[in-house]
Amino acid sequence: MSTELTHTCSRCRGYKLDTNYALCPVCDVKWKEIKNPLFLCLCQYGHSRSVCLARVLHSKKQQAIAAGVGTCGEWIAPLCRRADMILILETSFKKHVPGVEQWKVVDFHVGPDRWVNPYNQELNAILKAMVEQKLKL
Ligand SMILES: [Zn+2]
Repeated sequence: MSTELTHTCSRCRGYKLDTNYALCPVCDVKWKEIKNPLFLCLCQYGHSRSVCLARVLHSKKQQAIAAGVGTCGEWIAPLCRRADMILILETSFKKHVPGVEQWKVVDFHVGPDRWVNPYNQELNAILKAMVEQKLKL
């Protein structure tokens, strides 16, 4: 079992972790202190992957909205500004998040949309496990 600290906190990038848990203890405490945090889930069109992730968060009594980087136009900036955490369904979508908001990004990479359905049970199981692992919800 390796104890090498190879993963960086996905929020502050300033803390090395020995697992791929997305947030360091410092950031974890900070966001859990936010009352009713708003999660913004970003995928390509806001039809399938981000909706599925928002549904998982809703099932855990969290406030979450789904949007697509290719469909929300200039609303991406105000949405990212308002969100407390930005969950991206593909690593490459980070470039669509304004620079000043990128510290809020947590990577929920599941690859290209091969489910095309926010109610897909396989996708739901993948994202439920990621939420539990990365956000400890
Ligand atoms: Zn951190």
